Amino acid sequence: MKIQKIQAYAVSIPLETTYWVSNEIIDRCSQIIVQVLTDEGVTGVATLHGRSMPTVLQVVEQLSGYLAGMDALAHEAIWAKVFGLTTISPDAARASGAPSYLGADKRPALLAAMAGIDIALWDIKGKAVSLPVWRLLGGDRTSIRAYVTGGYYQVDRDLFDIGPEMAGYVSQGFNGVKMKVGGLSLPADVARVKAVRDAVGPSTMLMVDANCAYTLEQAIEAIRAFEPYDVYWFEEPLHWYDSVRAMGKLAQYTHVALASGESEQHSWACRDLIDLGAIRYMEFDATRSGGVTEWLRVAAYAQLHGVSMATHHDPHIHGHLAAAVPNGACVEVFLDEKRDPLWKMLFRERAQLRDGQLHLSDLPGFGFDIDWDVVKRFHI
Ligand SMILES: [Mg+2]
Repeated sequence: MKIQKIQAYAVSIPLETTYWVSNEIIDRCSQIIVQVLTDEGVTGVATLHGRSMPTVLQVVEQLSGYLAGMDALAHEAIWAKVFGLTTISPDAARASGAPSYLGADKRPALLAAMAGIDIALWDIKGKAVSLPVWRLLGGDRTSIRAYVTGGYYQVDRDLFDIGPEMAGYVSQGFNGVKMKVGGLSLPADVARVKAVRDAVGPSTMLMVDANCAYTLEQAIEAIRAFEPYDVYWFEEPLHWYDSVRAMGKLAQYTHVALASGESEQHSWACRDLIDLGAIRYMEFDATRSGGVTEWLRVAAYAQLHGVSMATHHDPHIHGHLAAAVPNGACVEVFLDEKRDPLWKMLFRERAQLRDGQLHLSDLPGFGFDIDWDVVKRFHI
């Protein structure tokens, strides 16, 4: 089965309200959809959310010609060929017909494009043998625990009135919720964490996500202030430039588990986060960088080091992976339709949320079906 062509479409919806995390504003909900078409009529589909969107689309187009004719089941060979573009010399690139310019500035977009292509290849593999990906990977779990991310800073509501939102998720059957911290002064964030703990009760897992808000000193102070509210994990506490070795230091100051990995681009960085960062939850995002093939390498390394896989975004894809591996802990989901309208709109068919679990089906591949009318409507 040979790759014929690869195409990508970007969808983006302006949100009704503006959300922010510690250092970034969220005012749109976006996805890129990648299709890998084969000569046997099997088409693999993926969603990805790498950045920047225009560059990812451009790179996918360049890779389409470069990968055409390759065996669509040869995911390792295809991965190696694409990843090789990050180190190829101009001379070798010319000789091999590699895309014209994929220099260092395009690396994140290249790895995002590869994420989409690789996920679509695993979808093809499942469709080719009529098996869902979770089963293809050897799993026997058909569901996995889901936790709900909410508790954003929001322009249209009182910054401290987030208890009702979070309690609402618990009343829908979820026993884990995650909220944002790091965007206000520490006393103000502590008040928000307290409000959520009071609202969700003592038996709900409460995670806090700082989105890289703190220096090491600030993070030590913050986690000590949050600890009385029984925080289950502390996610991406440290500024982007010192988020690995300083994380290992931070671990010496708290009993709270540390989580990170959604910002990493490859398995080598994830290895360092496990070796030097002392994290207990790895959140490498297969839909942002590297795809299923790279995610599985990260998961195997994490397994050897007693680290659990907690996934980031796109549960319709990550659910298959987390359910299949022995150290798959949970998937992240978004229930606020104002924050994530695409989860409700983009699919005709996908994994379902019920009783605090993501339930996977027996449909082949990733078992989702894109609503192309929605893609047409919000195409950019
Ligand atoms: Mg996060």
